Amino acid sequence: MPAFPVQDIQHYINGQFIDGISRKTFVNLNPFNNQAINNVAEGFKEDIDQAVASAKEAFDNGPWRSMKVEERLAYLVRIADLIEEHAEEISFLESLDTGLPISQTKKQAARGAENFRFYAEMVKSRLIGESYQVDDTFINYTIHKPIGVAGLITPWNAPFMLETWKIAPALATGNTCVLKPAEWSPLTANKLAHIFDQSGLPKGVLNIVHGFGETAGASLVAHPDVQLISFTGETTTGAQIIKNGADTMKRFSMELGGKSPAIIFEDADLEKALDSVIWGIYSFNGERCTANSRLFVQESIIEKFVQRLKQRVHSIKVGNPMDPGTEIGPLIHRNHFDNVSRYLDIAKDEGADIVSGSIPDEFKEGNFIAPTLLLNCTNDMTVAQEEIFGPVMAVIPFKTEEEVLRMANDVKYGLAAYVWTNDMRRGHRFAQAVDSGMVWVNSQNVRDLRIPFGGSKYSGVGREGGHYSFEFYTETQVIHVAIGEHHIPKFGVEKQNAVSSAEQ
Ligand code: NAD
Repeated sequence: MPAFPVQDIQHYINGQFIDGISRKTFVNLNPFNNQAINNVAEGFKEDIDQAVASAKEAFDNGPWRSMKVEERLAYLVRIADLIEEHAEEISFLESLDTGLPISQTKKQAARGAENFRFYAEMVKSRLIGESYQVDDTFINYTIHKPIGVAGLITPWNAPFMLETWKIAPALATGNTCVLKPAEWSPLTANKLAHIFDQSGLPKGVLNIVHGFGETAGASLVAHPDVQLISFTGETTTGAQIIKNGADTMKRFSMELGGKSPAIIFEDADLEKALDSVIWGIYSFNGERCTANSRLFVQESIIEKFVQRLKQRVHSIKVGNPMDPGTEIGPLIHRNHFDNVSRYLDIAKDEGADIVSGSIPDEFKEGNFIAPTLLLNCTNDMTVAQEEIFGPVMAVIPFKTEEEVLRMANDVKYGLAAYVWTNDMRRGHRFAQAVDSGMVWVNSQNVRDLRIPFGGSKYSGVGREGGHYSFEFYTETQVIHVAIGEHHIPKFGVEKQNAVSSAEQ
């Protein structure tokens, strides 16, 4: 993999790369060695104000909203082409910034391009209204209008993919945007700004302000000219954002944390189930919202299954994210490493048996956590209830379907679930009874862009993806038209007549 140059990062506002008004910057660290990568402009309220003003001007008076749909969608296709052209650089920057293995970030870059192509198609085929005819008297119809300025706030765990996942439907439907990317992963957001610039997108349509959540992020949420916030991140942050946006009547889409169960029944295809749960927890360094961080295995097969899990954990390749053979890289930041390490201490205190792979000595400067199994857990342990967001899986035995359903649902989150059984009646029955936004039966986490994505309970509010994004990013307006004769009540007329006859 060739190295690509990295420069200091500025905000992208109104089609210009500019320093923050305060001129403050922060240092962006490489999770592999904790050395500085570059300096990043630190945005505050005044920078957000500028970005929102530019997005509002572009929405109210720019060409974006009124241009022909084909013309608007052609920008999305151009952006997808540019992402593909720069895919190798995007993948390099993402791995450098986040510690995600290069083999995995390559797919993320491709997915980013796909998001733009997909929404360019979806708007043509599925951004449709409905009409309701009332006899020969009325016709009522709905149209979908862009809402205005969309505020987009993203996390660091799959930054490029998640930024494009929000920007593509927001722009395709005619909104303008202000993106506040995660402070620990600014590199690919900046690359995206350069791609937008190169695409010739009208100025102000897409603005990016870097900085921290409590300052730049909070100012975006509180801004009265921002009509909606699409947020992906921790549940506690989501709750805070909903509170902070209440005064300005924001519309929210919340994609939050998870503690998703994988359930392996004794009749499952155990080899496939093994591949799936290993991938599900250890890909993305375990920093994956839909990770199967709770593994329920039926008692009759648990010994054999755990044996195989241990073998795999010992042979997973922990290493330099830039090495194409690496399967687990370092966690994003030292603070997050400390968080995950704290959970390993809690697991020990709670009596779990800990089995871990190893980290080569030469990588000790990085934020590495070895792939870890927490064996003999119970569902009520802290490590089985709280999101750890690292390569750590709690393994819990079960006897019956009723028992495992109760345990699977006994958690505050409800993002994803995975069921492995060859009894398809049970597969459907179980899938429908699990409290989660998404369930995969005999499958790992594969996604079709047409389906809705989102969680229940503390894992989220609303759905994005496919045409479901249109409900969030557009205003549905209904227009009532009289097409025939109909009775209109005559208020005040009778009374007037009554008065005039009394006067006579
Ligand atoms: P986080 O909540 O700490 O931060 C996410 C973003 O919110 C960052 O850009 C941050 O700067 C910003 N932010 C923080 N405080 C804010 C505030 N008060 N106002 C406005 N913005 C604020 O999350 P993270 O640690 O970056 O990401 C990991 C979390 O994201 C995990 O919980 C994971 O499960 C979740 N996640 C969920 C999904 C999903 O689709 N459900 C996908 C990926 C990640």
